[in-house]
Amino acid sequence: MYYKYIVVGAGLAGLTIAERIAAELKEKVLIIEKRNHIGGNVYDSYNEDGILIHNYGPHIFHTNDREVYQYLSRFTPWNDFWHRVLTYVDGNLIPMPITVETINKLYNLNLSCDEVENFLKGKAVQIDEIKTSKDVALSKVGLDIYEKIFETYTKKQWGIDPGEIDTSVISRIPIRLNRDTRYFNDRYQGMPKYGFTKMCEKMVSNPNIKILLNTDYKEVIKDLKYDKLIYTGPTDYFYDYKFGKMEYRSINFIFETFNKEEYQAAPVVNYPNDYDFTRITEFKKLTWQEHKQTTILKEYPCSEGEPYYPFPTKECKEQFGLYQAEMDKEKNVIFLGRLAEYRYYNMDAVVRRALDIFQGGLNG
Ligand code: FAD
Repeated sequence: MYYKYIVVGAGLAGLTIAERIAAELKEKVLIIEKRNHIGGNVYDSYNEDGILIHNYGPHIFHTNDREVYQYLSRFTPWNDFWHRVLTYVDGNLIPMPITVETINKLYNLNLSCDEVENFLKGKAVQIDEIKTSKDVALSKVGLDIYEKIFETYTKKQWGIDPGEIDTSVISRIPIRLNRDTRYFNDRYQGMPKYGFTKMCEKMVSNPNIKILLNTDYKEVIKDLKYDKLIYTGPTDYFYDYKFGKMEYRSINFIFETFNKEEYQAAPVVNYPNDYDFTRITEFKKLTWQEHKQTTILKEYPCSEGEPYYPFPTKECKEQFGLYQAEMDKEKNVIFLGRLAEYRYYNMDAVVRRALDIFQGGLNG
C-alpha cells in the first residue's frame, strides 16, 4: 500500500506534522502508533471514578510563541490557568520557583525584593567555570538552598548527583526577585478546556489522516511504500541499537483517589527531601473539574520503563552523536520530537519544531 507520507508516533510532534500535511498539502497521511491511543505523553482520560487524569504525568501548556498558541487554539478553547507549585521543606510549604516569598518563608524573614537580591548574592558561591547543574545552583543560591531544595530532588529525579548532570536541568528553574509566585511567566498559559485528548482528536479529524493504533511500525513498514517517513519514535530503536541503547529516565506513576473534595494546597507539591516520590499532582486543580472525590498522582522516578526524559549527561550526548551522524545521511526520513531527537521538548517547543519542519518544505 502506498502513502506519500507516513508518520510514526501519534504524540504532539507526529499529530502536528500529520495535520499540516493533510490540511495544507491535501495529501493522505498514515500515522502508525504502538500505543492504544493518540496523544503520546499528553494523553488524558477519565479514570474509573470519573476524574480527568493525565495518564503520563501532569501537563501544563505554556508558551511565548504566539504562532504555536494560535495554531493549537484552532483545536481547543483554553481554561485560563496559571500554574502554581509548592515545595515541602523543613515542615513548610514554600512557593516554587524561588521568589521573594520563598526566601522569606524559608528563613522566616520579611525582606524586600532588593534585600532578597543582596541576601542571595551573599549566599552565592563563586564558581569560575560552570559545568554542571550543581555549579548552576551553587552559583545562584549557595549551599544551604541548594541542599534544601535542589540536591535531593535532583538525585531522586535522575538517580545521580547534580554534579554529574549538565547545566540544562537546573538552568531551566528561574529565580525571581519579585513576588510573582506563578510557576511559569509565559505570555500564553492554559489547559485545554475539554482535555488534551479532545484537542488531539480534533487535530486528526481531517479525513486525509488514517491512524493505525496498537502497531509497532516495524511490524508493517516493509509492506508499505512511501516517499517520506516522519519518525518520532526512539532513534536507537530505529537503528536496531547499533550504537547501544540510549539511556532514559522513566517514572512509575501511582494514582490514588480520595473520598474528599480537596487533597493539597496547590496543583503540584514537590517533596525534595521526604519520601521516595518527587511530587504529588492533584488533577482537579489543573482541570477545574468539579467532583466529590479527588485523584492525586505520586511520581517515582526510575531507570527502567517507558522512556520519558533523555539523560542529561555528556556521555549520553556523545553516544547520541553517533546516531545523529546516521540520521544526517537519511534522504527520505525526518526525525522529529523528544524521542527521535533525544532532547527534552516542552509541548510548545515540539509543536514549533514540527511547524518549522513543515514550513521548511519537509526536508528534515
Ligand atoms: P511523545 O508524546 O512521546 O510521542 C511519541 C509517540 O511515538 C508515542 O505515542 C509512542 O508510543 C510512539 N512510538 C514510539 N515508538 C514507536 C514505534 N516503534 N512504533 C509506533 N509508535 C511508536 N511539556 C509541557 O509543555 N508542559 C508540561 O507540563 C509537561 N510535563 C511533562 C511531564 C512529563 C512527566 C513528561 C514525560 C513530559 C512533559 N512535557 C511537558 C513534555 C511533553 O510530554 C512533550 O513535549 C511531548 O509529549 C513531546 O511529544 P512527542 O510527539 O515528541 O513525543
